[in-house]
Amino acid sequence: MAQKVLDVEDIRRLSDLGEVISAQVALKRVGRRLRGVCPFHSEKSPSFYVDPDKGLWHCFGCKAGGDVFRFVELSMGLSFPEAAQWLARRLGGEFRRRSTAQTSETQRLADMNSEAAGFFRRMLFAQEGEAARAYLEERGLSSEEAIRFGLGYAPQDWSRLFDLLRDKGFGEQEIFRSGLCLSRPSGGGYDRFRNRLIFSIFDTQQRIVGFGGRALAEEDEPKYLNSPETPLFQKGRTLYGLSWASRAIASRQRAVVVEGYFDLIRCHLCGIEEAVATLGTALTAAHLVLLRRRRTEKVFLAFDADSAGLRAALRSREIGAEAEVKVLAAELPAGHDPDSYLLSEGPEALEKVLAKGKPLVELTLEGILKKYEGQPANQRLGLLKEGAEILCGLQDAAEKAYYISWLGERYCGEGRENLAKVEQILVSQIAALSRKAGRSRYAGTPQAESRQDTTAEEALSSQVSGATPSAKLERQVLACLLAQPSILVNRPELIQPEDFCEPAHRRLAEAMLPLARQGEEPGSDRLSLCFEEGELRSLLAELVLGAEPWMNAAEVEKTLKRLQAIRVEKRRRELALLLEKEKEEEKRRLLQEEIHALARERSRQVGRWVVGE
Ligand SMILES: [Zn+2]
Repeated sequence: MAQKVLDVEDIRRLSDLGEVISAQVALKRVGRRLRGVCPFHSEKSPSFYVDPDKGLWHCFGCKAGGDVFRFVELSMGLSFPEAAQWLARRLGGEFRRRSTAQTSETQRLADMNSEAAGFFRRMLFAQEGEAARAYLEERGLSSEEAIRFGLGYAPQDWSRLFDLLRDKGFGEQEIFRSGLCLSRPSGGGYDRFRNRLIFSIFDTQQRIVGFGGRALAEEDEPKYLNSPETPLFQKGRTLYGLSWASRAIASRQRAVVVEGYFDLIRCHLCGIEEAVATLGTALTAAHLVLLRRRRTEKVFLAFDADSAGLRAALRSREIGAEAEVKVLAAELPAGHDPDSYLLSEGPEALEKVLAKGKPLVELTLEGILKKYEGQPANQRLGLLKEGAEILCGLQDAAEKAYYISWLGERYCGEGRENLAKVEQILVSQIAALSRKAGRSRYAGTPQAESRQDTTAEEALSSQVSGATPSAKLERQVLACLLAQPSILVNRPELIQPEDFCEPAHRRLAEAMLPLARQGEEPGSDRLSLCFEEGELRSLLAELVLGAEPWMNAAEVEKTLKRLQAIRVEKRRRELALLLEKEKEEEKRRLLQEEIHALARERSRQVGRWVVGE
């Protein structure tokens, strides 16, 4: 049964934006547009607009906006490909990107994995799978549950899967690349997973990207074996069970992270459907981003008390990511993992454990306090140093202040007379560390330390982006060009991406230009195909549906010239500042030359501008 394959453009063309949004928001017609109460912020009077003809929506209250994909992403907590898949299924098809060499390689890998999963499943219910089925029963899982979670069995034989994949037409080299089989020095290949219970690992597009295998014989090592990393499977970016958990995560706005396959399955069977599992790696920043995208506010780590994963999470420097997601670690009673705890105590008991979860920072600091317990006073200074290193990574100032006194109080114990002094030590340690780290670690964020090299004007524009006069002009120009895309087709030389200072505006200009040069009108529907980033597609909707003042072609040109002039003048002032500080004769001469060249360009522009009027 061949399914209709739809690419991004098909999905956009066939989806009715008004219909998709109406399913969630009550909309009333106002002229050519529809209006309703924004689902993304709380408001009383409606400022959420939908333009079904243009296929765009925008909220003038919270500035959320975009196309049909963006609406599904935000309202359901999905990534772009997931939203595309959801919309494609709604239209009775399957989402595929237009194939490129790379996607076809990952597609081959996914196809091969799907063949292998079928083989593992058949084996589980064949005669060979008897011991595996007995083991599942022992762990409290039924056959239906095994099927629901995609379990299987890899038989003891050396090359059954290898032979099967060869018969299905896969080449030896690609079979080895999938990690399902390994090559023999004498030629041919053998299966990686033998006599193991198999867990299929899905990505969020429901593709099987890899497998995990639990040894069934006591003597087999390691107990758990995973597929190696492939173009399709990166452990640091994959969470087991995320495809089953996405919806629950978005609706409950929390995620529960466990470590094992059985832990994950047990959680889902007990109604904790927002559970996901790490695959034998520490929780990474990429994992947190995956969860954050689903509008998670809190991430609970439900690890066993003595877990390596918890220790790894504590050691990891990802704590800074907490700025946007709260990571809370919940410690299970000794000797328990989530699976065994749920089986013996039930979901309410686990809920209570989660409720006692502590911020990762606090747990880390407790670990440091424990390490220095009972040590002489002079050695305990090391505690403050290590503590400062952790606190330095916190981005929220209030949180930082809170943990400074938290740690200070515990350091001082009963005698509080030194508390102020200890806190002062912590503050100055943290300040010294941030100065050192400022340049490398936080480069690109508007931190006071990293701003030394840029001019005050630039710093200001990066801080309140979109609000500087030139950013405002840039928006006006882009909005007008989007409204009248034929202007650019007739005169593509009109704009140069470098004239736009705001990075998002420049990206938009960069996308418009090649289309215009090919004679294709760079309208918003065509352009939104160019971007997967939500922000750019939001910007596009805002510019098209927004109320920027109208300009004709001549006015657009005039405004562009002003932008160029602003850019040149800014650069000239920057160089002048450098010149003041520069001592070396040769460098001074080069700077002066460049400044003169800019001044000449400036006067030429002013001239052109006057003539243009
Ligand atoms: Zn809104």
